[in-house]
Amino acid sequence: MVDYRTTTGDIKKARPQIAVLGIGAIEQHGRHLPVATDWTQAREISRRVAQELDALLLPALPYSMSECHGPMPGTVWLKPATLSAVLKDVARSLREQGIPILLVLNAHGGNFVLEPTIQELNQHYPDFRVIMPGEVWAAAGDEPIYETAGQGIHAEEAETSMQLYLNPQDVKAERVDYVPPVGREYLDYVFMPLINPEGTWGLPSYGTAEKGERGIAAQVRAIVAFVHAALEALG
Ligand SMILES: [Zn+2]
Repeated sequence: MVDYRTTTGDIKKARPQIAVLGIGAIEQHGRHLPVATDWTQAREISRRVAQELDALLLPALPYSMSECHGPMPGTVWLKPATLSAVLKDVARSLREQGIPILLVLNAHGGNFVLEPTIQELNQHYPDFRVIMPGEVWAAAGDEPIYETAGQGIHAEEAETSMQLYLNPQDVKAERVDYVPPVGREYLDYVFMPLINPEGTWGLPSYGTAEKGERGIAAQVRAIVAFVHAALEALG
């Protein structure tokens, strides 16, 4: 693996065939998790995946589409068009250097613009492939690690578990459990504080560091398997 801490000469010598770009978010995560929660996950998962794939690890993008959390302090968001433009520019930079594959690892559920952007890039540049598994935490969906899977999407059991494992010093004790009576699509209509002013969506009280450790390992395995299958299918 090579990464952004090495020289351009080292990267040239390593001739990486895949570049890995994690995408995080800076947004409120209830009373107990830091605003950088998604970014922390994006950094760690992309680092482990890049290591497994002997890839070029890019710095994970801290910001993405978090406007639905906008009024809550600490949240910083990009417009969908901005995120799309950033991804296109990153892809074009890599393509011009002869790196043929960009793996995008999205750690934030609200980044709906990524898929059409990736489709556009792949249709526009036949010599360059951008691939992305579903949301990185969903990639481990087949492994029964989280007891409340399916009941939460934000600052819930899974995210709390991962932070307790990766970043325990920044996790606060007060965890507010709340499963709204509405579906995720309500975030298309109203800001998060109108759904739950506490900012959580799910059952963080079930989170443990041990689940987070197993969850991250399962995600990395699922992502690496996805990449091998995708590359084989794409020839
Ligand atoms: Zn999150």
